[in-house]
Amino acid sequence: MQTHKRIEREHKTISKMIGLYCHAHHHTSQGSLCENCQFLLDYAHKRIDRCPFGWQKPTCTKCPVHCYKPDRREEIRQVMRYAGPRIILHHPILTLLHFLDGLKAPPAK
Ligand SMILES: [Zn+2]
Repeated sequence: MQTHKRIEREHKTISKMIGLYCHAHHHTSQGSLCENCQFLLDYAHKRIDRCPFGWQKPTCTKCPVHCYKPDRREEIRQVMRYAGPRIILHHPILTLLHFLDGLKAPPAK
């Protein structure tokens, strides 16, 4: 089975975001993550892969299914809050595509 472009993009976006956050807050060097952020990233990747909506999933901020555990959810929220506005500057195309994904109507159920 082939990975859908959107899922691929979701993976890419989340790893960029966690990267930005980790470099700024935990002072890791470019291309590496601290233990905790690496764990969070693995977790996020798994959640994306197991998303019941598959490639039709809405972007996670809009998703009606709260598949993150509360503490992980809080962590990822911190990451989004920090990296959200910044990723636009670092990766404008990726962000635009992610934004467009978010505009599409979420699946009916
Ligand atoms: Zn970190």
